[in-house]
Amino acid sequence: MNVYDSDRMQDLMLACGYQLTDTPDGADMVIINTCHIREKASEKLFSDLGRLRPFKQQKQQQGSEMIVAVAGCVAQAEGEEIFKRSPVVDIVVGPESYQTLPDLVGKVQREKKKQLNLNFSPNQKFDSLTLLSQKTGQTSAFISVQEGCDKFCTFCVVPYTRGAEYSRSVNQVLDEVKKLVDGGSQEIYLLGQNVNAYHGLNPDGSVCSLASLIDKIAQIDAVKRIRYTTSHPKDMLDDLIEAHGGIAKLMPFLHLPVQSGSNAVLKMMNRKHTRQDYFKIIEKLKKACPTIGLSSDFIVGFPGETEEDFLQTIDLVKQVKFTQCYSFKYSPRPGTPASELLNQIPEKIKEERLQILQTLLNEQQLEFNQQFQDKTVNVLFEKTAPKSQKQQPNTQIWGKSEWLQSVVVELENQQPPESYFNKILPVKIVKARPSSLIGKLL
Ligand code: SAH
Ligand code: SF4
Repeated sequence: MNVYDSDRMQDLMLACGYQLTDTPDGADMVIINTCHIREKASEKLFSDLGRLRPFKQQKQQQGSEMIVAVAGCVAQAEGEEIFKRSPVVDIVVGPESYQTLPDLVGKVQREKKKQLNLNFSPNQKFDSLTLLSQKTGQTSAFISVQEGCDKFCTFCVVPYTRGAEYSRSVNQVLDEVKKLVDGGSQEIYLLGQNVNAYHGLNPDGSVCSLASLIDKIAQIDAVKRIRYTTSHPKDMLDDLIEAHGGIAKLMPFLHLPVQSGSNAVLKMMNRKHTRQDYFKIIEKLKKACPTIGLSSDFIVGFPGETEEDFLQTIDLVKQVKFTQCYSFKYSPRPGTPASELLNQIPEKIKEERLQILQTLLNEQQLEFNQQFQDKTVNVLFEKTAPKSQKQQPNTQIWGKSEWLQSVVVELENQQPPESYFNKILPVKIVKARPSSLIGKLL
């Protein structure tokens, strides 16, 4: 979602005549878009701001100025504090008010005063956004359809930094999808902190579910693949489960974070679902779409998590068999209820549990990938693969399978790599690696 937001901020400034540069050296403006979800992500901001100082000074010595804006969830959470901690900052703008960025820049220039906007106005925000960036034609395009969250898991900052749940209207989403595919995009990635809680309005005022939004998008011919993330188990309703069986363009892959396999921890997390609920959903999903690949997020070392609780998580992983996952050590976030609990888990135990969990998840990912050895998969190619350590004589191209696996193919002919991009092609898998597949074009 931050990638999507960064692109929109870029678009807003492009419309004001700015151009994109890849270095802060000489830049008229630098925007740092931030994440507050874990402490590590937040900490980066102040070291990045420190690195900007000499560039800003150099610009001043040359008689011009560099405007520095901090956007995103750290901006929302820390507000004025950011100006105090880092004098280089001119603008602090939250994730639900960044449409005002051009205004704020104008004010900084005219009034020579620092500007702050932390309003929650997703409605206004989406009404004022444009799609100008070069990324419009990306093979796989992100589109935010839902933002914010009303669930208040006790570890999470999202309800405070992104505000209440909000869904964009069906027409607004369809218009944006059409622009994306007109620009050449093949795959549409619907985004939301709770994307399956989507409840946007149809033109007649009735409420549209995510399943029915996906169905409408699937009817646009030029859309070849549809994905959505991130979903909450509580909102995984039957129509969406059925969509995985009934809508061919909806990929057979679901990221459905469970966070923990222990009911006691899930309760302390205020997750509003049990491990049994999770198993039930997986069972229904597999019935609707037997080939579905599953992914999840996990938090280890939540306050009060016992060894027995942790083993319940390991047991859940063994039962479900995931294809790829994200796992984190619990990170206390200021202002969230869990950060005030007294039974915090020592860092060393969190570290040990994370290691054990990640070893198991990596084994499962490799096992899943190995099933594709000698099989043919359909790959949507996007770009050339990053160069490997060993110099490859031939160019390699990179794409994604239906299950979101990275697939790399070495080109043995003289065709330009670009001629493969934006196409879905059958690939025979010759080697399965832990986090990618190596294949040959058929
Ligand atoms: N809405 C999604 C998750 C959004 S946050 C859901 O409910 O599943 C993305 C992920 O960050 C979460 O799934 C969680 O695993 C992780 N996360 C959030 N807060 C965290 C914290 N305080 N410490 C560690 N991980 C955290
Ligand atoms: Fe955070 Fe997701 Fe829980 Fe909302 S549902 S509070 S975004 S973890």
